[in-house]
Amino acid sequence: MKKIPLYAHILTGMLIGTIVGVVAVSTNTGWIVEDWLKPFGIIFLKLLKLVAIPLIFASLVTGISGLSDITKLSRIGFKTLTFYIFTTIMAVSIGLMLVTLFEPGQSFPEEKRVELLSKYSQVLETKTDAIESTKSDGSLKFIVDIVPENIIASASSNSNMLQVIFFAILFGVAIVLLKNSKVELVRDFVSGLNEIILKIIDFIMYFAPIGVMALLAGLIVDYSGDNPAQSLRLFETLGYYALVVIVGLLFVGFVFYPILLRIFAKMPFKIFYKEMFPVHLVAFSTSSSAATLPVTMEQVEKGLGVRNEVASFVLPIGVTVNMDGTSLYQAVAVVFIAQVFGIEMTFVSLLTILFTATLASIGTAAVPGAGVVMLVIVLNAVGIPIEGLALILAIDRPLDMMRTVINVTGDAMIAVIIDKNELKNK
Ligand code: ASP
Repeated sequence: MKKIPLYAHILTGMLIGTIVGVVAVSTNTGWIVEDWLKPFGIIFLKLLKLVAIPLIFASLVTGISGLSDITKLSRIGFKTLTFYIFTTIMAVSIGLMLVTLFEPGQSFPEEKRVELLSKYSQVLETKTDAIESTKSDGSLKFIVDIVPENIIASASSNSNMLQVIFFAILFGVAIVLLKNSKVELVRDFVSGLNEIILKIIDFIMYFAPIGVMALLAGLIVDYSGDNPAQSLRLFETLGYYALVVIVGLLFVGFVFYPILLRIFAKMPFKIFYKEMFPVHLVAFSTSSSAATLPVTMEQVEKGLGVRNEVASFVLPIGVTVNMDGTSLYQAVAVVFIAQVFGIEMTFVSLLTILFTATLASIGTAAVPGAGVVMLVIVLNAVGIPIEGLALILAIDRPLDMMRTVINVTGDAMIAVIIDKNELKNK
């Protein structure tokens, strides 16, 4: 019998979840979804997060310690970062171009502005702590934050992934430099650990169809709240802005990435997207690149044939550093808010956005809704009142789901490119 591919299972789960969510909202039985279905979505998310830190550590150390010398590591590292920064800058530029061209905020009705500002100012207040600390952080604080002072403490929170990456790189590099039998023991141990975690990920993926079904059903119920008609109206109001973000994301995903894939990896994008499909579905359902990492690793290695030494280095770093979808969204959002407030964007403001949105997306945690909080840095940099965030909060979640898909696609694409490039160098 032909094996049914993973994406078909997940897709079916998503479809059923959507139908269940819509039926629950329209029959006022959302509580059943909340009480009996949503918990399975939460369990799925927790399982994915559970393996994230051990996976990052074990795979990075295995990947790096498998390299024959440090020159190779620095070469791969340099290429990876160059590509990450290049694609992010391009994504921001595409966002800026589209938002300036289509001006979604220009014709925004005055009464809607007042309504949204007052309606969402409360939600904004609940985010105030995160926003306040982001505001006072300064643009380079995230570099300071990368260095851990206690690795046990860092590894105890999924929001410190960059710190774990930092430690894993040091650990791996030390193994490469020390070539004696005691070190071999540690290397074999971590590599065994890596295998075990990959097996656990296989188990979790069996549960994925149910997990995404529960997540989507829960999301629809939460989103529609007590008043589905009102949510629909909000969609209409912010539709033009959302459309500009979506067009930008589609452009990056279906025009920009395929061009890069063709030029640097000679890979037809059809093959790439076929293998990436399960990853897209999980990214869309979880809104978190970090939670999606186990699936991304699996598909990039097994589906796209990227060697473990490259995937295990490029992907964990990309998850936290490379967010093309988020940076594009941040660029569009900032200019949209400026347009609604009637603040003129000069060439210098646009350049400032280019710079700060690139930095802000690097500093954005790979979890749901992180992009909107980091937007504060960009708003501050160009002198737009952060209350403007209230304008776009209502529609943030669906956009988050879509930008997360692009975020993980960008990481995988660069892993493919670096792998092909390294093979050529051999
Ligand atoms: N949810 C996104 C991610 O995990 C980050 C964001 O833009 O909020 O990739």
